[in-house]
Amino acid sequence: MIVLGIETSCDETGVAVYDTGRTGAAGLRAHAVYSQIALHAEYGGVVPELASRDHVRKLLPLIRQTLAEAGLGVGDLEGVAYTAGPGLVGALLVGAGVARSLAWALELPAVAVHHMEGHLLAPLMEDDPPEPPFVALLVSGGHTQLVAVDAIGRYRLLGETLDDAAGEAFDKTAKLMGLPYPGGPQLAALAEAGTPGRYRFPRPMTRRPGLDFSFSGLKTQVMLAWRDSDRSDATRADIARAFEDAVVDTLAIKCERALDEAGCDTLVVAGGVGANTRLRARLHDMAGKRGGRACFPRPELCTDNGAMIAFAGALRLEAGQRASDAVHVTPRWDMATLPEVVPAHGS
Ligand code: ATP
Ligand code: MG
Ligand code: FE
Repeated sequence: MIVLGIETSCDETGVAVYDTGRTGAAGLRAHAVYSQIALHAEYGGVVPELASRDHVRKLLPLIRQTLAEAGLGVGDLEGVAYTAGPGLVGALLVGAGVARSLAWALELPAVAVHHMEGHLLAPLMEDDPPEPPFVALLVSGGHTQLVAVDAIGRYRLLGETLDDAAGEAFDKTAKLMGLPYPGGPQLAALAEAGTPGRYRFPRPMTRRPGLDFSFSGLKTQVMLAWRDSDRSDATRADIARAFEDAVVDTLAIKCERALDEAGCDTLVVAGGVGANTRLRARLHDMAGKRGGRACFPRPELCTDNGAMIAFAGALRLEAGQRASDAVHVTPRWDMATLPEVVPAHGS
């Protein structure tokens, strides 16, 4: 099945074509992401109305470009998948409106995809994909969750952040040390030049039992350390390194605990912070030591993209699931309420 995927939940317009067929051309046929970062940079954060308008401007050209890159025409498409939530309501409506209209005009089935399920399933697009049951760590700009994946579509929340998401903590920490928006990836790059151990920050909520997280206190610790420092470039890098070490350590401790609780050794990691080199190395190491493995998407598929939506949508379309004809979005949406994906007979 050849599925067009459309992602517009926040500030990235993502489009992709995923082919579930068994031919040599199967897999991810093409994907393109247009990031609105420059548009929102002067405001220091995403402005919802500007985001919606930019999706309107960019979505159709990006669909044409992606189809051309895949060497396909609209007539080759067999299904349409779009992000229906969670996210910014106006931004979601742009993607849902275009996806539903295309599906209606081309007489194709369409399916509404949960953005975090998209992230969660992205590692399954890579070679040698893991099979459930496994534990998933979702670490993005808006979420930090540990999820038990009993089957595709059957998700149980094991723990989540009580305040800032890990990506949000990266971005806010970068901002308070004067890095331009969105600073997460830049903070991570800076940490590479830092001296490990010159600063040390706490590993929040790791001493008590449980799988929840809290990252907002860490930001305050950084703020105090930075305020009382010489504010040199070297110090900024040293603090960045200490912050990254604290986040990576905290995530690794909780992931290991979640694997113990779930009684399994396969960890799947997704979301923007999953692109972090040090986190990847640390979790590979942790899972390997217990005889299991950690599975990640390639870094470009950790952050928002249309490929993960095309892929998750293709699994649901092949299982016979369909969205109603209405242009409907769900800005707040609990992943645990999703139906399980039960493969249809004969596929
Ligand atoms: P959500 O998926 O929860 O709705 P989102 O879609 O905005 O949020 P993503 O696109 O998955 O989030 O990820 C973006 C986040 O990932 C940002 O907070 C960014 O700082 C962070 N991020 C990206 N690359 C890195 C990196 N190398 N190290 C640390 N953080 C990173
Ligand atoms: Mg984004
Ligand atoms: Fe995301």
